[in-house]
Amino acid sequence: MPEIDLPNLKDRLWHNMQQDLARFVPEILERNRLMCCACGRFLPSEDFSIEHIIPKQTIKQDPQEVRSNPATPANIRAGNILLCTKPLHYRNTRIHNNGCNSWKGKYFDGALTDIMTGKMPPHQNKKAQNAHIIGGLAAAYLAMVSEYGYVVALMQSGLIAREQFFNPNRFRKGLMAKSQMILTGQPQTAIEDQVWSRPFHFEFHAQSCLVTVRNFVVYLPISQDPRLPIIRHLQYVPQKYAFRPNFETVFT
Ligand SMILES: [Zn+2]
Repeated sequence: MPEIDLPNLKDRLWHNMQQDLARFVPEILERNRLMCCACGRFLPSEDFSIEHIIPKQTIKQDPQEVRSNPATPANIRAGNILLCTKPLHYRNTRIHNNGCNSWKGKYFDGALTDIMTGKMPPHQNKKAQNAHIIGGLAAAYLAMVSEYGYVVALMQSGLIAREQFFNPNRFRKGLMAKSQMILTGQPQTAIEDQVWSRPFHFEFHAQSCLVTVRNFVVYLPISQDPRLPIIRHLQYVPQKYAFRPNFETVFT
């Protein structure tokens, strides 16, 4: 089964994500920029590439019948979003020679593949355990941004998720206890399983969202319900509708 035309997919993601972000930052349309939802930098199109939320190394191992089914090409099974490719600088020091797309690949894709192919090492030290949980949180965060848009990245809890993304082995201070665990099941194998066409599922709770990514679940902190309408032009709005986007970033 041929993959869908990737340049086309990038253009489509760029357009959709830009239209969504313009609700908060209208000037990006004129400047033709997009915010990377991981590092928070505003960058031009050439500094972005397509990120497979479920890693390529995982989807390559999907059952043959699923891979050859025209209804479930790789990009549908993986879920896509744009992440940056520009080297990351923190306080004038280069901390990574590439962007967030490569950062996720380096720190999380191996752990995610372990989980989603059912090959979690049985005995792990704390650091390896944390890497699997934080990998799960990273995938859940990206899945939520791809589903509900930049509101997820820009609410207060988005900053927590963005900071956790850059701490692949240690939980960020203040991360709620129930976000510091992951529940995993056996990988799906049935051809007719709907997980191949819908890899993510979201269940909202107070201050958190239970995110299912294929065969694992994590609680992602959520300070507001991203499905509620956003009212920004009125001075007094009920608290749950008030939204003050947080553009904080430490990266240049
Ligand atoms: Zn980035």
